[in-house]
Amino acid sequence: MLRPSLFPGEENDLNKFHLELRGVSKEYAGFVAVESVDLKVARGEFLVLLGPSGSGKTTILSMMGGFTVPTTGHMYIDGHDVTETTPAHRPTATVFQDYALFPHMSVLQNVSFGLTMRKVSKPLRYQRAETALETMGLSGLGDREIHQLSGGQRQRVALARAIAVEPEVLLLDEPLGALDQKIRRQMQVELVRLQKTLGVTFVHVTHDQEEAMSIADNIALINKGRIEDYGPPDRIYLRPATLFAATFMGDSNIFSGEVVGNQADWVEIKTQTGNLRIAGSQEIGTSVHIMLRPEQIKVGSSESSDTFSMGVVRIVDVTFQGTHRLCRALGGADETVEFLLRLPPEHAVSPSDCLSIYALMSDVVLLTR
Ligand code: ATP
Repeated sequence: MLRPSLFPGEENDLNKFHLELRGVSKEYAGFVAVESVDLKVARGEFLVLLGPSGSGKTTILSMMGGFTVPTTGHMYIDGHDVTETTPAHRPTATVFQDYALFPHMSVLQNVSFGLTMRKVSKPLRYQRAETALETMGLSGLGDREIHQLSGGQRQRVALARAIAVEPEVLLLDEPLGALDQKIRRQMQVELVRLQKTLGVTFVHVTHDQEEAMSIADNIALINKGRIEDYGPPDRIYLRPATLFAATFMGDSNIFSGEVVGNQADWVEIKTQTGNLRIAGSQEIGTSVHIMLRPEQIKVGSSESSDTFSMGVVRIVDVTFQGTHRLCRALGGADETVEFLLRLPPEHAVSPSDCLSIYALMSDVVLLTR
């Protein structure tokens, strides 16, 4: 599949990666903010850069947009090396967390600003700005001053300004951070709709794992300047690659353990809540962790080979949350191990109730790093 190139005289293969980072690092006076990041983003993909504060998400996005030059490594768009290309010469547009709207300009002037910079003729730029406003549900607000808009409307103006220049890659730095919870949810749905409608590649920064899971095609989980885990949201949630990924992506039960036996394709692990055999190849004596999500722990007894019995636990507290009951429980020898269970709402339990619990072996995740 071929489409006209941004770079005249060339045609680009749509099947190759749209945006690619190879060995990209950024150092500030000896401090490594981003370290050896390799990342490939397909054309039309919605990638989310997720991670805690200070992990390097904004720095990666800023290098994609051309606002920060990498210390080492290369960045490609459509197969062209853009490592040192300025923002104005890249097919990217960035929506900043604070929106960076011009307070002394009207909504229409704000939205057409990027087109003015690109020397697009006045009639055409107003036409494109009006279309962008319409796409963002802001028709009729072009003459308003910025201070006459709600937070949600300002957010839409910032998005309209970015899409008006018809970028190939839209970079979004925590664009929903300033919105309240309800508008934030609405905007998440709208962003996905917008991305599918425009067919543009989106890279979106957030520290909110629920937001990341609800909008991303793929998540790059960033920790200490490195990609800790990468993949579709369900894979990262259900089969996290590392202990950090398991704890960052929602509630989890993590049990420490030690490999006490091994065969060709399985290992036996001794944990604080019982022994289990699981696929693996670690040496005897290796320290590991196993993980289960709260909703994967089931109530009842099961001793079959495809289940992991964790004995009896005592409920410590219960909160009814509508869709489920969130329970904290203690188990293991001397009740030293804490469990988090998400029981169905119809399962009435009270503090001090004792329950036998188990999980399906297929749900158990072995974490070796
Ligand atoms: P947040 O979610 O809080 O915005 P982040 O994951 O986006 O965080 P970055 O803003 O990329 O993190 O910062 C990564 C690290 O690099 C931080 O420790 C930050 O202090 C440092 N850093 C970022 N910009 C600079 C700079 N211009 N000079 C020195 N250090 C910087």
